[in-house]
Amino acid sequence: MKKSPFEENRSLETAIAIYEQRIKDAQAIYQKHKENFLERNCPICSSTLKINQEDFHQTYKIVKCRACGSVYVNPVPNSEAIEDYYKNCQCNRMLAELTRSRSKKFNVDDRVRTISTIIEKSEKQELKILEVGCSSGLFLQGLQDYLSNHFPQIKLSVCGIDLDQDAISKSVDNRLNLRCCSAVNLKTTESEIGTYDLVLHYELIEHLLDPFQFMMTVKELLKPGGYSVFTTPNALGAENLASGYNSRRLIAHAIFPPMHLNAFSVQNIPLFSYRLGLEIVEISTPGKLDIDMIGKNRDFLTNESFIAIADIEDEIVKTYLQQYTVNCLASSHMQCILRKPL
Ligand SMILES: [Zn+2]
Repeated sequence: MKKSPFEENRSLETAIAIYEQRIKDAQAIYQKHKENFLERNCPICSSTLKINQEDFHQTYKIVKCRACGSVYVNPVPNSEAIEDYYKNCQCNRMLAELTRSRSKKFNVDDRVRTISTIIEKSEKQELKILEVGCSSGLFLQGLQDYLSNHFPQIKLSVCGIDLDQDAISKSVDNRLNLRCCSAVNLKTTESEIGTYDLVLHYELIEHLLDPFQFMMTVKELLKPGGYSVFTTPNALGAENLASGYNSRRLIAHAIFPPMHLNAFSVQNIPLFSYRLGLEIVEISTPGKLDIDMIGKNRDFLTNESFIAIADIEDEIVKTYLQQYTVNCLASSHMQCILRKPL
């Protein structure tokens, strides 16, 4: 039987097991570290005005900014709690195992095509690219191979950083310049300021205690006219809306402490980028999984419109609906291209 788009990535049983373990681990981290959680302002607009939302699984406090409408975790787990979660919690080992089994080969994906389109327009002869959160460099290796083949005239310099020393030591390609460094401590060295044409990070900023500070560092690293390209969940995307953060979800919701602490959306990225002093080149939601996942989560939905979507059986209608969701910028997977002004 043909696998659905979601099941090409993981089996339903594995997704449910990881989700359930994530909730248990999140609750354990909350109980252990809650006394040391930190109050913060809105990560998008910096306002102190907020209103309480429903707690996350009877533990973490979730608030909505009264100035810009963004939803975020507050107080937020401190770095020690976050480190404890990523180093010691079972759900992360389960996810690492799944990622290892999937990443044996590199497929040219939408991320590479996006970068390729940016490069085509730029007409550069030399390019310096940084990926933050590069793991063992599998994506960078694929990107380097693709760009070398398609733009042989361009001199490429490809670098990556990752928090995980073990992943860095297993670098898949010695042409890549990988080093161990956390996104939180991504301090620019004098020689790196203003030197990158592209800084890439995928599914990263939703995890950070201070995504604004991180993006200011990214801006500092970029050359004038350089691009920041990143992906993050779209909190107001169809599938995130269908399954709120307290409902079962097959992959992590945009709000999912201590992992996802900040919920970005098509609606709040313009304000975020305005504060950063970056220009918006493109915001898109090229997700493929919303309609499929809404169907798979049918028994946990409460909104009648989403239940009606979950009950659609016709594969062609489902494909059209997913495409419509993408066209309306309403899928749960978002890609942003921002540019440092010249
Ligand atoms: Zn705000």
